[in-house]
Amino acid sequence: MQNLRILLILLVLLSCSNEEEKRDISSVSRGDNNEDLSLLSEDFQEKIYSPLPNLHVAVGYGLANSILVVGDGESLIIDTMGGIETANRVIKDMGDLNPNKEIKIAYTHFHADHTLGAGAFKENFQINGVIGHRDLEAEFENFMGIKRTLIGERSQKMFGLILKDKNFSDGIGIKLEAGVDTSGYLKPDIVFDKTHSEEVGGLIVDFIHAPGETDDQIFVWIEEMKTLFSGDNIYKAFPNIYTIRGTSFRSFRSWYQSIEKMIALEPEVLVPSHGVPIIGKENILEILKNYRDAIKYVHDQTMRKLNLGGNPIDVAQSIKLPKSLRENPYLFELYGSVEWSSRNLFNGYFGWFDGNPSNLHPLEKKEFSSRLRGLISDEKLLEEIKGSFEKKDYQWTLFLTDLFSEENIEVRNLRAETLRILGEEAYNPNAKSYYLSEYAAISDIETSKGFVTAESSITDKMLRELSILMFLDIMAIRLDPKDTEELSETVKIKFNDLNEIWELRLHNSVLTYKVVETLDDIDIEMESLTFKKLLTQKLNPVVDILLSSNLATGENKAGFLGFVARFRN
Ligand SMILES: [Zn+2]
Repeated sequence: MQNLRILLILLVLLSCSNEEEKRDISSVSRGDNNEDLSLLSEDFQEKIYSPLPNLHVAVGYGLANSILVVGDGESLIIDTMGGIETANRVIKDMGDLNPNKEIKIAYTHFHADHTLGAGAFKENFQINGVIGHRDLEAEFENFMGIKRTLIGERSQKMFGLILKDKNFSDGIGIKLEAGVDTSGYLKPDIVFDKTHSEEVGGLIVDFIHAPGETDDQIFVWIEEMKTLFSGDNIYKAFPNIYTIRGTSFRSFRSWYQSIEKMIALEPEVLVPSHGVPIIGKENILEILKNYRDAIKYVHDQTMRKLNLGGNPIDVAQSIKLPKSLRENPYLFELYGSVEWSSRNLFNGYFGWFDGNPSNLHPLEKKEFSSRLRGLISDEKLLEEIKGSFEKKDYQWTLFLTDLFSEENIEVRNLRAETLRILGEEAYNPNAKSYYLSEYAAISDIETSKGFVTAESSITDKMLRELSILMFLDIMAIRLDPKDTEELSETVKIKFNDLNEIWELRLHNSVLTYKVVETLDDIDIEMESLTFKKLLTQKLNPVVDILLSSNLATGENKAGFLGFVARFRN
């Protein structure tokens, strides 16, 4: 149906002129407001806010905030910035505001912009504990492990990291430093499921699980300061219920229920992990209630329209916040988008199948394009691309350019121009950066360096914080099953520092792994760090492992290395 519909539209369009009303993408995300990105950037001037004498918030140093609560003899750091260099600048500027040498760290959630700066604090303070939700470690390792390649590529586009002279903010912060700075994550050693109370320098601090932007999200509450630290469940933009860098489902219901828990506390100071602190109970309660309502509105209206038979894309495009919410500066679509969020509700509740049987086994993209082009002819399509570009019908232009390969220079140039214009006109910074990054990528213009992507750049300190399981999971997704169908192999490796023996088994072209008790038939022994360095290509398997006994011993080093070599994509 979908393909037939597209075909019919194409035929109609090619036989008569297109006077149909078109959607103005640039205004899709804009509320009835005058605020724009440059104005918002004023919120992200590098500055330390001190809403209370013992409370200091570093805003504008990177994408997120780092927050200091000073107790008697010990301080609490909530979120650590996205990398060592940026965290060091915060520590330096906080300077005398923190008289304590001892600190506890709390992560509001696993995202890199909140966790990767922790190592800098370790260099400067005695850390008495790192607090986070029990699921944080697994979430972090999934993100940094098997999802890293794709999320990395897409984050780079969403945050416009490769854009030279980027002069707009990312909506919730000035710029992403995570992945650019040196990474210095510390894994939490105080974890909890629902709630946890901790004394920090004489202050009783409550940590409350509050799933929303992530499932491991928490908020922090200090009753005697009437202060709420909301993590990423509140920022000055419509919530990012779906993020285009790619993410698992973010539950609408959990999110608005978490906000209701915050409302019940009646905070007098609200310190988000992005943007400036908010003061005053009435003000805060109004913001929280409107935020809750916006999330619930999109949820309820999307479900209503889906139940009435609408298809997910049409429904998502039809959802508009009521005027009272649309005009609220805390709900401008400067980070999340109503349309993308609504689509994610369908995806989260029902998965990828939209109910149309044409989409059960669709044609391969390439096949679909070439058949369509065979039917319509490249000349006519090209004419339509040029015509729609002239008419500023950019979404249609972009879609038609998808039908051609990148080798067609004329189409590629028109695609690049279309992306550039869409990027310049877009209101939502994520959309803006994504369009402009794609434009930069296909038009060979000079770009900035972006992420440090080489695995070998991960420091040993960082490797130590990551589990063996994460590395085995990465190995497993690198198996090309082409030559392994008949194979059944098992190897055993002993990690001396962990005193653990892991059995790795390749069978049915699947790698499985488990800790075993038996000491028999151990192929190789090494420190866990050596194994991690081997897998991240920081060590040479032949020179460092096979030909030397400094880092690894065992009867069957060669056999083990041969086994590992199968996992190279
Ligand atoms: Zn964040």
